[in-house]
Amino acid sequence: MPVASPSDPTADPALRSWVPVREGSDFPIQNLPYGVFRRGSGDPGCIGVAIGDSILDLGPLAREGLLHDSIPNPTALEAASLEGILGLGRPAWRKLRGRISELLSTANREIRDVPELAERVLVPLDQADMALPVAVRNYVDFYSSFEHASNMGRMFRPDAEPLLPNWRHLPVGYHGRAGTVVVSGTPVVRPRGQTKGEDDPAPSWGPTRMLDIELEVGFLTGAGNRLGAPIPIRAAGDHIFGLVLVNDWSARDIQRWEYQPLGPFLGKSFATSISPWVVTLDALDPYRVAGPAQDPEPLPYLRADAAWAFDIELEVGLSSAAMSERGLPPHVISRTNFRSLYWSMAQQLAHATSNGATAGAGDLFASGTISGSDPSSYGSLLELTWRGTRPLVLPDGSKRAFLEDGDTVVMRGWCGEGHERPRIGFGEVNGTILASPEGPGNASDVGTGIGEGGRRR
Ligand code: CA
Repeated sequence: MPVASPSDPTADPALRSWVPVREGSDFPIQNLPYGVFRRGSGDPGCIGVAIGDSILDLGPLAREGLLHDSIPNPTALEAASLEGILGLGRPAWRKLRGRISELLSTANREIRDVPELAERVLVPLDQADMALPVAVRNYVDFYSSFEHASNMGRMFRPDAEPLLPNWRHLPVGYHGRAGTVVVSGTPVVRPRGQTKGEDDPAPSWGPTRMLDIELEVGFLTGAGNRLGAPIPIRAAGDHIFGLVLVNDWSARDIQRWEYQPLGPFLGKSFATSISPWVVTLDALDPYRVAGPAQDPEPLPYLRADAAWAFDIELEVGLSSAAMSERGLPPHVISRTNFRSLYWSMAQQLAHATSNGATAGAGDLFASGTISGSDPSSYGSLLELTWRGTRPLVLPDGSKRAFLEDGDTVVMRGWCGEGHERPRIGFGEVNGTILASPEGPGNASDVGTGIGEGGRRR
């Protein structure tokens, strides 16, 4: 049930760019994701659009006047953040996207025929360092996968209904820590915290022993609402700018001991990684599909009259330190699809603002772990290894229940398979686990209030 406008020229599968685009590239001219990149260590950051193996630098194009009729605030393109673009709203987003698509299309010669300009505004992807696309102002994490929520229920409440009574009536979520959202490639230091196993007489303090991943997709909102004025579900599309991949790193042993009665806290807040390229809702529109049936029917404020699922293939890869040293590719540990998500982005945004809370430029909303029905499609190690009882075996022969120091996790996402359209890719979100540092802050220094008997060495 695609609702894409067939007349949108930026989505035309026949469109080609004069910038070379490899077969199978994540970034054909139909994609044009936005990101913030640095050309070197002293560079504060530039706004760019990915095309093939290159980045189109929008700042110099704005200074040359090539984008002046396409954005009301051209200086926003010279910033080191997408915030000034995010705040504009959908009509302006479409206009800017249309102009960038025009400049990059084979028929256009405004950059192509000016070699000095082309050299200045095209940066090889492999020579750029990616930064956070926007300083995240608010971060909400949902729990919207039926399969994931059911698996959690089966694991932790085996004698009860897998889903709690509210789950089918509202998209359950919590407010996370915006300041620790990091861009792909940022190392993740194994967090320390307070834990207490079921058989432990007292809690102890130390590095987590159950460091996990959560495969998620997040969206960034733009043009905001006024405090007290909810975003109605029919207007969600005016507020959602684009999507990123999210890895919500989680320390399960810390989480298990701390989460009741107020929900996730330090087991989740040490790092959340996002992919650097924001794939716009406009680029994804041809891959819009009907979502799963909802039973019971949600309350009226959560009923959408349009399709709000997206056919995005998702994959998780894991490399041990030994595999990385030997140059082996990541071992794929999960494959799933975003379209199975029970609660849609439109429902999530309508619900999150239904009490009058605002959502604007710099707000990140993540889906919650995306698990499919098959065990090979689970989105966390907790589920893939069923609480560590069925360890994964990596190509180097090592086993994993949870992450070890030196492990690298790579998540990828893309649309296109089965649609006979160009691939619209997200690139990847990756992170490598670093050991907890020795010294101040370790177990022997921070034992206050915790009984010696319960302390792990
Ligand atoms: Ca999560």
